[in-house]
Order: sequence, then C-alpha cells, then structure tokens
Amino acid sequence: MIIDCHGHYTTAPAQHEHWRKQQIDAHSKGDAVPSRPAMTDQEIAATIRNGQLRMQRERGTDLTIFSPRAAGMGHHLGGAETSEAWASACNELIFRVCSLFPRNFIGVGMLPQSPGVSPKNCLAEMDRCVTAYGFVGFNLNPDPSGGYWTDPPLGDRFWYPIYEKLVELGTPAMIHVSHSCNPAFHTTGAHYLNGDTAAFMQFLTSTVFKDFPTLNIIIPHGGGAVPFHWGRFRGLAQGLNLPLLKELLLNNICFDTCIYHQPGQDLLAKVIPADNILFASEMIGAVPGVDPETGHNFDDTKRYIDALAIPEEDKAKIFEGNARRVFSRLSKQIAKQASMKGAAE
Ligand SMILES: [Zn+2]
Repeated sequence: MIIDCHGHYTTAPAQHEHWRKQQIDAHSKGDAVPSRPAMTDQEIAATIRNGQLRMQRERGTDLTIFSPRAAGMGHHLGGAETSEAWASACNELIFRVCSLFPRNFIGVGMLPQSPGVSPKNCLAEMDRCVTAYGFVGFNLNPDPSGGYWTDPPLGDRFWYPIYEKLVELGTPAMIHVSHSCNPAFHTTGAHYLNGDTAAFMQFLTSTVFKDFPTLNIIIPHGGGAVPFHWGRFRGLAQGLNLPLLKELLLNNICFDTCIYHQPGQDLLAKVIPADNILFASEMIGAVPGVDPETGHNFDDTKRYIDALAIPEEDKAKIFEGNARRVFSRLSKQIAKQASMKGAAE
C-alpha cells in the first residue's frame, strides 16, 4: 500500500469557503454568523472523484491522509470562537469525505488555534476528531498569527497541553503554518518553509522530547531548509553541548517528501535515515503545474521515490511502514474503514 501522508481538501465545495467569508465578515461587523451551508454527499463526492481520487489512481497511490486546506486555516482571522467554529466545520467536512471514500482517505484534523490564546482550547476538538471521526493525527500551526510569530516557540510550556493530548491519543502532529498575512512572506514560497525550518530549531533547543519521549512530529515540505543544512544544525547542536541530532531529535521527528524535484529528494534520502522519511505529495496543492524539464507534475512525488537509488525495503518504509508507525492509530483505522461501504464502488 502506498500511503500519501499529506493531502488537503483544496477542492471543497464553493459554499464551504463562501461561508468562511461570511463568518469573517460577520465577525468584523459584529453581526451574527449565518448558519452553515448545506452540502450534499453528491457534491462532495464529485469534488473528490474529479480531484484527489483521480490523481491517486493516475499516480498509483492508494490512501491519502487528508486534512482541511492548510492556507485556509487562517488562525489569525477573527477570534478564538471564530477558529472553533471554522475548525469544527472543516473537520466535519473531512470526516464526510472519509466516510464517502473510506478506502482512499483517512482524516487528520485542524486545530482551533488563535494567536495569544492557550492551545488548551483545542483539546475538546482533538478528542472529538479521534473518537467521533476516527482521525489519526493533527496539523499544528506553530505561528497562529500568520507570519508575525507572536506566540512562544514550540519548546515553551505554552504548547504542552497539545503534546500531552497528542501522546494520550496516540496521534502525531504535522507542523503546518497557514496563510501568511505578513507581506514579507509569500505563503507557500516562504512562510511554509520558514515554519518548517523554525520549528526544527525550536525543537532542537527544547526539552520537548525529553518530556514527551513518545511524541511524534512530522515536519513537512521535506523539512524546509533542514536536510540541506544538516551540517549547520549538527554543528549548532554540538556548540550547545547537545547530543547528536540522531539521538536528540530523530526518535521523534520525521520529514515528508513534498519536495518537487529529483535532486532535492535524492538529498533528503542521502542525509536523513529512511526510518524518518514519510511519502507525501500535498496534491492538489501549492505547486500543481507540470515541470517542463520532466513533463510530469511537480507534485507527482511518487516518481522521485521510485527513482531513488536505495534498497526496496527502504522504499517500503517510506511508502508505507513509517506512516503505520508514526500514525499509531492508522493500521486499525485502515482496517475499520476497509469494512465500510463507500461511494467509490
Ligand atoms: Zn500541507
């Protein structure tokens, strides 16, 4: 089985995003928020059949670990109650997709974060996502301010309620920023990669994994600048009299393969152990176009793994084994959803 651990519902029905706009407008005017729009199963199924499901089939992948649109999380918009209602709507929609296509999609939740608000307010939604929806992980935004980094770094105890809940539920977190409202940082070209790189360094200088030895963190987009600068990070850790990075961080951190060219993927596989790499494409996402140098879509990342000069057993870890380990609820959820009747057949 080929498991893509990083996909977002970027093709949700238009009324979903329209309601979000109404919600933000109402918040800014102090008006009541209109009730949520109706969406039929047929409408939802059509967006998936013509989108992510078609691409799974074309590209030869089997299952996408699926979460709400990351740039759309917009934790900086509105207040804490705005984020709660939006996260609830987005997660429910992911659950509906997973129920319609139980063999192709398993859910990951977004959190109702808000800048300056304790992430304790996310705990109830986390419980709901796992117990009611069968989700297997969460996206954690290290910068709910949208590019201004006004909250404490990830090593701060501010974040510990989230880590405690992740460990209790047996779910990993993918570190994932959202839309940038800082014009200095392009959302997907700078803010995403900055977020990945900053998060790694925040963990490096923290005691998070001493305090939560079983916590699993995924740093997406190939780890931002981290694998390319592995020597810098090793040297920084050494200068701080910290253990080797392998001991300090690689029991807890994995990187995904959302790197949209072969040389970058080759480098990741050369620098980072196969046990710490998870297959992902983030399709249909930030970089959906066709690479004129290869004739294939940039985000058709399975090709880059197929072409790696590494043992087949390492490829099997990247495609499937590591995801089943890091998402500790995944194998059970795959079995559970395999017995459900879906719209795909
Ligand atoms: Zn993403």
